[in-house]
Amino acid sequence: MDHERADHVPECLECGVCCFSDLEGFVRVWGADYERLGRSAPDLSVFIGNRCFMRMVDGHCAALELSPDTGAFVCSIYGQRPQICRDLERGSAECAGERSLKGDRPTRWLREVRSRHTR
Ligand code: SF4
Ligand code: SF4
Repeated sequence: MDHERADHVPECLECGVCCFSDLEGFVRVWGADYERLGRSAPDLSVFIGNRCFMRMVDGHCAALELSPDTGAFVCSIYGQRPQICRDLERGSAECAGERSLKGDRPTRWLREVRSRHTR
């Protein structure tokens, strides 16, 4: 697997790009993932047919929250996140692909939310 130099890659807690998608079925939740989510599972996941995924809200995973302290996007269930999120390694080719494809999403999202509040 190709890896970028670590100093070229943002910290995940200052990025969040791979948690954005317009797809309803984006982050697969398998049985073990569902169990790990515990009491949050019914709220944070959704069944599409007989397959379970993280619920998507406003173009990002429902577990992704904007930290009021830092203004950064944070996974609110980091310790319980699904396996697919654990497998996406920071600095990997997949990480680079996500950032290349969707790098503007967090900034765009913030701009849209702020403009909604000023209307
Ligand atoms: S894995 Fe990559 S794309 Fe995902 S949050 Fe971390 S740096 Fe960003
Ligand atoms: S569970 Fe956490 S790491 Fe995985 S997509 Fe959702 S917010 Fe991102």
